[in-house]
Amino acid sequence: MRHVDVLIIGGGPAGISAAIWCKRLGIDCLLLEEQSQLGGQLFNIFNEIIDYPGMRTKNGIEMQREMVKHFVEMDCLYEVNTKVLFIDERSKTVKVKKQAKEQEICYTYLILATGSSQRKLGVPGEQQMIDRGEVYSASADGERLKGKTVAIIGGGDRAFEGAHLLSSKAREVYLIHRSTRFKAREQYVERVISNPCIKVMTDTEVTAIHGDRHVTSIDLECKNKEYKSKNLLVDAALIRLGVAPNVDLIKGKVATAQNGLIVTDDVHQSSNPFIYAVGDACTTPLFSSISSSAGQGTIVAKHISNLLNEA
Ligand SMILES: Cc1cc2nc3c(=O)[nH]c(=O)nc-3n(C[C@H](O)[C@H](O)[C@H](O)COP(=O)(O)OP(=O)(O)OC[C@H]3O[C@@H](n4cnc5c(N)ncnc54)[C@H](O)[C@@H]3O)c2cc1C
Repeated sequence: MRHVDVLIIGGGPAGISAAIWCKRLGIDCLLLEEQSQLGGQLFNIFNEIIDYPGMRTKNGIEMQREMVKHFVEMDCLYEVNTKVLFIDERSKTVKVKKQAKEQEICYTYLILATGSSQRKLGVPGEQQMIDRGEVYSASADGERLKGKTVAIIGGGDRAFEGAHLLSSKAREVYLIHRSTRFKAREQYVERVISNPCIKVMTDTEVTAIHGDRHVTSIDLECKNKEYKSKNLLVDAALIRLGVAPNVDLIKGKVATAQNGLIVTDDVHQSSNPFIYAVGDACTTPLFSSISSSAGQGTIVAKHISNLLNEA
């Protein structure tokens, strides 16, 4: 069975940084990424990135290119289209799937850099909508949504910012939230509530998304007196429920907090001394960033290098 000293799961900024540092420190390391390209959430950033020292890019894809170029130039070992299916922490082995083929890889230390994903509503029609590619960015898809009726679901900053951005392009914007309290910043809420082009629906849950080739309507259940249930005709539904860490793989194997994040110490070691976590998988969304993910990758690689040298 193949063995590596350090196995990294996830090729976003945290995993890329950990791999670059491992290479620099002469550690035998392999990075596995389930997607066809490295970069993780960088592919979802359509705004300019102005907060990464020394690299100001017009969007995430430009930063992805720079990071991957650096990674490849450093000759880091990696495999894409390779999903880790199972971790056996007792035998320190992972089971991976690459193009329908399964294999096992053995590690001395494992770094989880699996990142986070957008939370889903979990209602009928949602996955079909995502599978059809109807996933919009309020900042990048203004032209595609021009003149359309759009529903934005959520009560945080991204939902409110999205509603505000689209209000100048879309024909109608509905902001739908399941409670009457919003997590979004006060100034975002005020801007949206005072905008006559946006209809805010509180105490309202989306229970289904309809449409065969594209979204045509959504079902709503309302807790207040106005109506009980209703079908709302819309052309697009933007789900903005925040993010959740990708930790299914490790659930029950290392300690996780109530919010799902992997619990780590100051060198990013989990409750298992051979398993580390970096980036969004262990960082609250309030503090997650490309730079903190990269920094955490550095810490872990340096720490593991010391452990390997001591051994
Ligand atoms: C719209 C948006 C805008 C943002 N803007 C900024 C910004 O301006 N500045 C900033 O600093 N940050 C920004 N961020 C946050 C930043 O992108 C994240 O904090 C950062 O990408 C986290 O890096 P990561 O490596 O931890 O995880 P990710 O980038 O999520 O990468 C995780 C990788 O792990 C892979 N993976 C998961 N499970 C498996 C598995 N089982 N097997 C193999 N591979 C797996 C995934 O496919 C993914 O490629 C933004 C995020 C979003 C969504």
